[in-house]
Amino acid sequence: MECVIRNGTVVTASDSTPADVGIEGGKITHIGQGLGPAAREIDASGQYLFPGGVDVHTHVDIELMGHRSVDDFYSGTVAAACGGVTTIVDYALPEAGQSIQGSVDAWEEKARDKSIIDYGIHPVILEPTQQIIDEMADAIAEGHTSFKLFMIGMARFDELAADYLKVMAQAGKHGALTNIHAEDQCLIGYLCEQMTTEGKLGPKHFPDSRPRESEGLAVQRAISMAKYAEAPIYLVHLSCEEALAPIRQARAHGQIIYGETRPLYLHLSRERFEEPDAERYVGWPPLREASQMQVMWDGLRNDNLQTVATDHCGWNLAQKKAGKTVDELLPGMSNLETLIPMLYSEGVSQGKLSLNRFVEVSATNPAKLFGLYPQKGTLAVGSDADIVIFDPRKAVTIRHRNMHSRADYELYEGFEITGWPTHTLSRGEVIVENGTVLGNAGRGKLLKRKRFTPL
Ligand SMILES: [Zn+2]
Repeated sequence: MECVIRNGTVVTASDSTPADVGIEGGKITHIGQGLGPAAREIDASGQYLFPGGVDVHTHVDIELMGHRSVDDFYSGTVAAACGGVTTIVDYALPEAGQSIQGSVDAWEEKARDKSIIDYGIHPVILEPTQQIIDEMADAIAEGHTSFKLFMIGMARFDELAADYLKVMAQAGKHGALTNIHAEDQCLIGYLCEQMTTEGKLGPKHFPDSRPRESEGLAVQRAISMAKYAEAPIYLVHLSCEEALAPIRQARAHGQIIYGETRPLYLHLSRERFEEPDAERYVGWPPLREASQMQVMWDGLRNDNLQTVATDHCGWNLAQKKAGKTVDELLPGMSNLETLIPMLYSEGVSQGKLSLNRFVEVSATNPAKLFGLYPQKGTLAVGSDADIVIFDPRKAVTIRHRNMHSRADYELYEGFEITGWPTHTLSRGEVIVENGTVLGNAGRGKLLKRKRFTPL
């Protein structure tokens, strides 16, 4: 065998088993006791073996509101790998008038020579014309089996809702999942205008410009649209009870709906907007009241939510501080490197998630929902050897200086956590070992994904 990882505990969504793992040709070929010798031996005594994290919501290298994000597919995927994420699915934003294939090609061009981990692409639809709807089947056949819709101003959703409904229906018909950013533009637009008129500027006022009701309202609308489109939907970055309640109800009635949350809403709350330089916390939707953090953990535990994904988008603080009015504040932040360790430390160590549920929401469910399972998202014979060897006792103080994103600040600066990867393997290759990056730029491959099947 090429490589054996010995004496660790192999953790999947269903089991935790002491076992050795054998690797050949980039795949897991053996899981069992006392495997024979291998060219490379790694001792994982006292450590867990997790399937590499699958982060299905990233914006590694984008332009937004006149700013270019600071990461590219090298720094972004190095940050991912250092934190134990071995697959990302990034959103391809089209330029005006661009075809779906054009936007996918442009994205692959950015990633191809840079990514150190495998990556998929979700096409974003910002112009729901008949021509774009006609192109969807080809994109799905090419392995891009999910699309993103924004219910906000940048996508002119309120104006074009009837056309977006057709997009959802087309996705459902051809076996793709529709990902939806659910916030109600009518409420947000009204509140932002009012706050600007009243001189309520800056991050302190930001959470009131996009209230929980705006998220709840949009989620309810998306659910009803999806019902009549007969299409499965996946609601991204949910932050509050108002979003979770209608999903719970619709799922109980048999509708095929999934919910994602984001580390932000598990680890931070809106009091952060009282701090200096609070622009660093701005995301869409905003941080909520502290009570909502528990709601999100409960949602993950009881399957009201199925996944955690970062919405990673690295900016420098000067970019975050450039906007003045509440609607000019630049959303997003670097988050890929801390996704897995923070979820383990705050979730598993604190008793909020079981070890197996942690693997399920960070790797298995996202891989299944987005057509990557069982190649990604589990540890099984035949799966890609995307493996994180994780030391659950390693004490780490999170510091910007140790992070690999090019963002010039760290969201969780000073947080003390327990647990960090010692090795990250991608298709059998050790790409990070004890903090040293060994994987080369461009080794990551574009993933062609299978059609959607329900969990
Ligand atoms: Zn996003």
